[in-house]
Amino acid sequence: MNREIEKIDPRDFITGPFVKCPKCGGNEFGVLNIYDDRYMRRCRNRNCWHTVTINLPELRKKVILHRPVCDKQHHEGAES
Ligand SMILES: [Zn+2]
Repeated sequence: MNREIEKIDPRDFITGPFVKCPKCGGNEFGVLNIYDDRYMRRCRNRNCWHTVTINLPELRKKVILHRPVCDKQHHEGAES
């Protein structure tokens, strides 16, 4: 109840699914951030804090890049 709004625990930014950490072996290795072409994983264990950046496969990139173009074409086609 005494938790201050400004006080944000960086661990809150680490979300699941949690897998086994390659460094400490604990099952608290979650997802920190997802970008267009890569994502970051971080261990939630304060004594470990192991962080890795993983590049997404080329296929995933194409899906992300092509989706808005398809939507736009579909929208224009429906109007004309
Ligand atoms: Zn760890």
